[in-house]
Formats: sequence, structure tokens, C-alpha cells
Amino acid sequence: MNKAIYPGSFDPFTNGHLDILNRACKVFDEVIVLVAINPAKKTVFTVQERVDILKKILKDKPNVRVDSYEGLTVDYAKQEGVKHIIRGLRAVTDFEYEFQLASANRFANPEIDMVFFMASVENSFVSSSVVNELRKNGADVSPLVPKPVVEAFEAKGI
Ligand code: ADP
Repeated sequence: MNKAIYPGSFDPFTNGHLDILNRACKVFDEVIVLVAINPAKKTVFTVQERVDILKKILKDKPNVRVDSYEGLTVDYAKQEGVKHIIRGLRAVTDFEYEFQLASANRFANPEIDMVFFMASVENSFVSSSVVNELRKNGADVSPLVPKPVVEAFEAKGI
């Protein structure tokens, strides 16, 4: 089976993330959406909240699994027998960071390759931080995120 991991902070998961995931699902038999745990990073949603939101969003996708992991994604990939890590690219500004990350991953495990999908134009400005900033200031973010994310904001009183 041709499996891949789509790792990210997903704080929260946006329509941009969903766009990348949907493209990846056409190429791979199974995709694991992996919430990367980084205790040093201040997040709006806890790891458990992000996992719960993702499970709600992706419940009807039989070839998608949700998990979380603290450590190197390449180590998680090795443990799961996965050889491909998916990332998304928006503007050129993403390239530098992703290039560095891909090089670090290759250094840590040369057996694993990164696979990049391009954002569609309508999602190219969407990021978790843009969504959080808009929401915090009272804007309607429902066109930018799946419904469970709006519900999670409401539940948190944001
Ligand atoms: P991280 O903190 O690991 O960068 P993110 O949740 O911000 O995690 O993003 C995960 C991946 O999804 C990254 O590769 C990022 O470039 C990509 N991504 C985020 N938003 C979009 C978008 N609107 N279109 C395409 N890719 C995106």
C-alpha cells in the first residue's frame, strides 16, 4: 500500500490544508494527517482539540487517518513504514522554509522523500495564523475553514 504522512501544526486546519489533503488522497492509498506536537509553540488549540477537530472533519474519508506525534516526522514515518511526507506550497515565501525542512529531513533519513502539492489560488492566502487573527478580531472565517473549526472556536469562546 502506498502511504503518506501529512504533518503540520493544523492550529487550526483550514480549507488550504484540506485542498492539499484532497490532492494527496488522489495519489496515495492512505494518508495519515499528523498533528505535530511542539511544546515550545504557543497554540490556540491543544493537541487533543486539534485531533478531535480533524477527526470530525475527516470522518467520511476512509483512506485518511488522524494521529499526533512529538518528535521528528521522519522517525514517525519509519515506525509506520511510510516513505513519503506531504507538504503544501503557497507563495515563494513558503519555499525557503520547506526547502530547509526537506533538507533536514533528508539528513535525518535519506530513505524518506517529501512530496509537495501547490495550493489553489483561492486558498493561497489562507494560513492558520491569518484565520486566528481574523477570528480574534470578529471576522467571519467560515468561508476559510471546515465547519468543525468554527464550532471549536465557538466552544472556546473565541
Ligand atoms: P507547520 O507549522 O508544520 O508549517 P502548518 O499547519 O502551518 O504546519 O502547515 C502544514 C503544511 O500545510 C505546510 O506545508 C504548509 O505550507 C501547508 N499549508 C498551509 N496552508 C496552506 C494553504 N493555504 N495552501 C497550501 N498549503 C498550505
